[in-house]
Amino acid sequence: MPKQENGQREDSLIQNDLSESFEEEVRAFLGDEEKLHLFDDLTKVNPVTTRTVLKCLQARYRVNLFYTNAGCSLVALNPFQPFSCLYSPELMREYHVALCPQDLKPHIFAVAEQTYRNVQKQMDPVNQSIIVSGESGAGKTWTSRCLMKFYASVAASVISPKGNETVERIERRVLDSNPVMEAFGNACTLRNSNSSRFGKYIQLQLDRFHHLTGASIQTFLLEKTRVAYQAPNERNFHIFYQITKGATAEERLEWNLPEGAEYRWLPNSERNLDEDCFEVTRGAMFHLGIGRATQSNIFKVLSGLLHLGNVQFSNPLDESQPCELEDKTKEFVRTTGELLQIPTEELLECLRIRTITAGKQQQVFRKPCSRAECESRRDCLAKVIYARLFEWLVLVINENIYTEPSVWTSFIGLLDVYGFEAFPENNLEQLCINYANEKLQQHFVAHYLKAQQEEYAAEGLQWSFINYQDNQNCLDLIEGNPLSIFSLLNEYFRPCILKAALKECRLNRASNTDLFQTRIEKALSSNQCLSRDKFSKKPNFIISHYAGKVCYQLAAMVEKNKDAVPPELIHVLQTSKDPLLQKLFPVTENNQNNTKTQNRAAVVTVVSKFKSSLEHLMEILGRTTPHYIRCIKPNADCRAMTFRREEVLSQLQACGIVEAITISAAGFPVRIPFQSFTERYELLRKSWGSSKKRVWDKSSSHPAEKTGETAVMGDDRAPRAAVLEILQGALRGQSPA
Ligand code: ATP
Ligand code: MG
Repeated sequence: MPKQENGQREDSLIQNDLSESFEEEVRAFLGDEEKLHLFDDLTKVNPVTTRTVLKCLQARYRVNLFYTNAGCSLVALNPFQPFSCLYSPELMREYHVALCPQDLKPHIFAVAEQTYRNVQKQMDPVNQSIIVSGESGAGKTWTSRCLMKFYASVAASVISPKGNETVERIERRVLDSNPVMEAFGNACTLRNSNSSRFGKYIQLQLDRFHHLTGASIQTFLLEKTRVAYQAPNERNFHIFYQITKGATAEERLEWNLPEGAEYRWLPNSERNLDEDCFEVTRGAMFHLGIGRATQSNIFKVLSGLLHLGNVQFSNPLDESQPCELEDKTKEFVRTTGELLQIPTEELLECLRIRTITAGKQQQVFRKPCSRAECESRRDCLAKVIYARLFEWLVLVINENIYTEPSVWTSFIGLLDVYGFEAFPENNLEQLCINYANEKLQQHFVAHYLKAQQEEYAAEGLQWSFINYQDNQNCLDLIEGNPLSIFSLLNEYFRPCILKAALKECRLNRASNTDLFQTRIEKALSSNQCLSRDKFSKKPNFIISHYAGKVCYQLAAMVEKNKDAVPPELIHVLQTSKDPLLQKLFPVTENNQNNTKTQNRAAVVTVVSKFKSSLEHLMEILGRTTPHYIRCIKPNADCRAMTFRREEVLSQLQACGIVEAITISAAGFPVRIPFQSFTERYELLRKSWGSSKKRVWDKSSSHPAEKTGETAVMGDDRAPRAAVLEILQGALRGQSPA
């Protein structure tokens, strides 16, 4: 949980990390420090640079102004302490009834209301999306929850005259999807005690009267490895702690969860979090149509996974024999079998024995697995059950909140997606996440450029547009056709291509990793976004992302992409008598003992699945009017009132704000309200002589005068060079006279 500082402020200004002259420079540009917090749109800071922007954000944070506009995005700084007045129903109403919500203080409710009005105005396109991004702990999920509450309040469905329950409770059900998804998909990590381990896109469906009628949820890339592996000081998914802490005595018996029992896959359970509340999850599941019996079934299976985690193997004396089990472990296997309703012997067989079908006669051979293989099979069994359970839950939730397309006419989509990641070691997970961020960044830049063009056009300005290099090159490197990192990763599942590649590389004895590295370097070296850390001993490649360079480790990437589940495991799960497992692992005609078909079916790689779900999402986003909320974590320690400039800067870079600033500066970097400009530079008017008089002439038809908006240098009536010269002189402290 975030630590509260009781008003104590840590100020990283003292740290002087960015530049010693920072303060002076900023003062020269921005003028009066006392007034810095008044800049409520970062693109209107003069000049707009990362430093000036950073300074303004810090000034605003000091006076509890956590939201700041940045052109078409909203920057949201995480306060790390509750400010209930910031999200009160009264404030929601204030933004909802305001004549122009954008004239009020920047706020997520202003974005939410604007979005809602766009739907009402039948904007083109009428469907809207709010893309909430930021690094772990920045406040994406918090923000998305607040946005959902806003719509549940302002767009509440009408209560039917007969008091029809179903109509009445749709907002509640939509809101109830949050605690359920968070219980099963969130976990306590080093960076956030309630970290979402999946991406989420929720569409709030509105009818023709703009009332909320339902919703649908799409999820991405659940971090299923967490079920069987938790990094030091991290925890498993919240739901496991909820059941072990919150089950009644009767349920403990039924689910075989004696009080005080220890589970290897349940580390740090002594830590009590707000998120450990079982009752909230159960209540929400109930509202979502998941009755007590099904709930009990789910928790019984989860308890089975906890017991499975305690199963340990040891090497046999005779290598031709299966791995051995300690007495204690035998007990855990037995309870797992009971809870998952699988005979103990079958469970043990699938964990310890690999079956190989070979020869023309399709003979079946049984081969004992090594200890490492047994452990990997145990973990795989848990992961596949949990991943399918999560998918099934999303399906059930959707069934309970979704309405037919004939009922709704428009939607507002909320995207809560993991931000750009660059750790000391990065692998396939980071590659997928950063790929998603590249896609979203491309979408953002295209939209931002369009918005800039529209702004200039509205001001009647002539411009030749911004020379801006977009990130297509990087996307081509990752996902392009025919050759890209994704296509090379997938080669491993197309034997004929792989054979040719092997021949070409003359690396017949090479490991997957070596071969992959050689393939990447041969096939993709012409792409300028690709390089390699030559000093590292580990095979790697570096991608120059829009947000910075990231070095990816190649080891295990091919295997992670395959994400293969041994067919014996699926088969044993299909034989379970448990009603939930039967739903999660239905027996289909194709896979009854037909290993060949199973193998072929298994070749839906992680990257191809992710790519296609992301393409589907981008297609939906492309047909909506986007709004961006960039959440920023002011310090990594989750402390209130602590603003660390270096950390904020790297996030501004990662979420594309720096790039937006670059684009903004590449157009007309200095923007001054017309009134201020004339007042401030009145003296210069004389030195310009009579030919320039029209610039200030009250009869001038300069559109900025009429709107009182922005006058931008470069306008043909105020020669750009002259204005720049004057401004540069002024910024150097010279008297403009
Ligand atoms: P992850 O990517 O790990 O899921 P996230 O961006 O979704 O991270 P949140 O879980 O939304 O981060 O926020 C982290 C914590 O920060 C919250 O649990 C809450 O304590 C605090 N927080 C976030 N936003 C606010 C806010 N607006 N006001 C007060 N506290 C906040
Ligand atoms: Mg989250």
